[in-house]
Amino acid sequence: MSVTSPQILTKRVAAVGHFVDGAYVSGKGDTFEKVNPATGELVKLVASATKEEVDQAVQSARRALSGPWSKMSVQERVGVLRRIAEEITKREAAFLRAEILDTGKPVTLASHLDIPRGAANFNVFADLIYGVPTEAFEMPTPDGDGAINYALRRPRGVIAIVSPWNLPLLLTTWKIAPALACGNTVVVKPSEETPSTATLLGEVMNAAGVPPGVFNVVNGFGPDSAGEYLTTHPDVDGITFTGETKTGEVIARAAANGVRPVSLELGGKNSAIICKDADLEKAADGIARAVYMNSGQVCLGTERVFVAREIFDDFAERLVARGKALTVGDPFDKATSLGPLISDEHRRKVLKYYKTAADDGAQILLGGGVPEVEKSFANGFWVEPTIWTGLSDHSSVLHEEIFGPCCHLAPFDDVEDAVARANDTPYGLAASLWSKDVSTALKNAARLEAGIVWVNSWFLRDLRTPFGGSKRSGIGREGGVHGLEFYSELKNICVKL
Ligand code: NAD
Repeated sequence: MSVTSPQILTKRVAAVGHFVDGAYVSGKGDTFEKVNPATGELVKLVASATKEEVDQAVQSARRALSGPWSKMSVQERVGVLRRIAEEITKREAAFLRAEILDTGKPVTLASHLDIPRGAANFNVFADLIYGVPTEAFEMPTPDGDGAINYALRRPRGVIAIVSPWNLPLLLTTWKIAPALACGNTVVVKPSEETPSTATLLGEVMNAAGVPPGVFNVVNGFGPDSAGEYLTTHPDVDGITFTGETKTGEVIARAAANGVRPVSLELGGKNSAIICKDADLEKAADGIARAVYMNSGQVCLGTERVFVAREIFDDFAERLVARGKALTVGDPFDKATSLGPLISDEHRRKVLKYYKTAADDGAQILLGGGVPEVEKSFANGFWVEPTIWTGLSDHSSVLHEEIFGPCCHLAPFDDVEDAVARANDTPYGLAASLWSKDVSTALKNAARLEAGIVWVNSWFLRDLRTPFGGSKRSGIGREGGVHGLEFYSELKNICVKL
């Protein structure tokens, strides 16, 4: 992406600004180009927030902390959250178009996953905050009268939200909803690759009656740009981040200044274990989703699959067949099932791993290159769905996160050995295990070093459950009451009777 003068703005290209203090602003800094990943065409010029503009957003969020928002009862906030969900749903077509133009993801995926989950996130946290109990303890005192302790949840203050590009609306609202449910105010910095749906939320917030300043969006890049200005801003009270592990380390250092709480949802190198007694059709369907969905650009996606030797060939054939059945093409066409990657830069990274796999002696069962596409999509960032086998456990392809529609299949003879190999990674986000035997499944699910383990499924989500990674995949858990731990502070009040 290159930085462009605002003067070249044409009617054909949309402009994306910031949303501060309840109003859209076009931005005083440079703009940068956002291209459609499916065609490579320029579709938007996006404002890159200056340090002063980020400061204005943070100050507007701080002022809003003592405005009408702070005086709303929980019941009133719940009403606001439900209206936000309704207003997103009313604008489904606009959100879909914006998300597809930014990401290139197929309309069938965005309409089933991204946009409905964007709305659902607000309803889930509305339910939760309405029903969440507090704790109370009676205690004895020397005079015999006793005391009672009770805890109140209080908002932390101004929350900085920094989000990635792979599931833009879904992951950003997954943070905005609990933050608002707890009474905080927020400044959101969406990924530079996907500025549109977070920015569209400004209109939603106004329509839902969110007071000005409670929700703000600043666009721009990470280092030396809006992301850094926001996370290092001294008036931010907490930082929630989803993205790469390396960026998470930088954000954690920024959070250390001023001892601010930080929540980190980071990268993964997720595994799956297919036992010899697994239902092969269901396992192949599940792993095909885990590998190919969103072109493999899912933090929970599976890049390492361990398959019992007895069923290896059968399973590999089924997974390859599902990959061959994918259709590339216009993301707005319901027949398209595989979109492009997010950017040319990301495609270069994924293709570098395709080359490394070949150089390291992988047997390529499917793909390995760039697909043929119609002329109008020839400049998009496409890669073929790709399946390898035969790599040694030392290949970098098996240790580094690729984030493409690819995986490696390795045979195993003993489930415990497969678990040990699955755990041989610095990451610990997600894993799946496929077996009809309850004892094998439960024993080994407990041994897998990951924050989330699915048995006989993948990406089956109940939003009340803890979500997050162990090891270098993150710190903290989102979802359900676990999210509230980050977005609120418990204050104990001790009353002497
Ligand atoms: P990224 O780390 O490059 O960027 C994420 C966000 O951080 C962007 O908004 C970016 O502008 C900002 N940023 C970058 N450098 C910054 C800095 N120095 N200071 C402040 N902000 C900065 O990640 P990405 O490429 O957008 O997303 C892909 C990654 O996200 C993958 O590693 C994936 O596994 C991970 N991810 C994790 C989860 C999870 O729940 N664990 C979910 C989705 C994606």
